[in-house]
Amino acid sequence: MQLGTRAVVLSAKNLEEHDRLVVLLTEDLGVVTAYAKGARRQKGTMSSATEQLSYSAFQLFRNREHTFVDRAETETVFFAIRQDMERLALASYFCQLCRELIPEGETQPEYLHLMMNTLTLLDRGQTPLSQLKAVFELRLLTMSGYMPDLVACAACGDFTGEGILFAPAAGTVYCGDCAPKAGNTPLMPLEPGVFQAMRHIIYSDFGKLFSFRLPAEGLERLAAASEAYLLAQVERVLPALDFYKTIKAPIL
Ligand SMILES: [Zn+2]
Repeated sequence: MQLGTRAVVLSAKNLEEHDRLVVLLTEDLGVVTAYAKGARRQKGTMSSATEQLSYSAFQLFRNREHTFVDRAETETVFFAIRQDMERLALASYFCQLCRELIPEGETQPEYLHLMMNTLTLLDRGQTPLSQLKAVFELRLLTMSGYMPDLVACAACGDFTGEGILFAPAAGTVYCGDCAPKAGNTPLMPLEPGVFQAMRHIIYSDFGKLFSFRLPAEGLERLAAASEAYLLAQVERVLPALDFYKTIKAPIL
């Protein structure tokens, strides 16, 4: 069966005989693993189109067991990301999260849209990396079945937005009065701006997803809360995240 689609290459592993095994985040077929035969032999189109992070138009062939790349043409390679170690490490982490979190057989195009919007902003270099990281993590978690409940205090149902504490393990919030009821669960205090930003990322329309501002300090706290929540849900070591942290530029 022949299938045409567009996709971001989440990973590309070189095999023998100039072949390559790619994992694609497609617009309408979900996450697809495919063999690109001779991908590294043909200089030009197939080679760059099947590298990690390339966004390309694919012609796929699928039999009962495997999927093969018949043709691939690059649409964008995110050149600026590839030139910058820190941004490249963050983009690789986004690729890993897609592979970890997007359920098998899930064909919603929103996953590719989220990835493309995030990579486009990362490539432009105008948006703080901590903001892109937090938005991508929280929105991807929300879409893939791990939506935190940030509506109101988990104990009393009250919501004022003041003195809110976040419980990353449960993905819930407590007001200051109810904090003792959280038991031994670690809690992170969230200033109102950071709490609002988290709610925005989870509940806002897709088109407005990235349109919020926080001062640098708030962004770092947002990123910390988001990462703590992600790690509590995923419960796995994420090598690409560890690598990103080792080369992340120090906060000035
Ligand atoms: Zn309460």
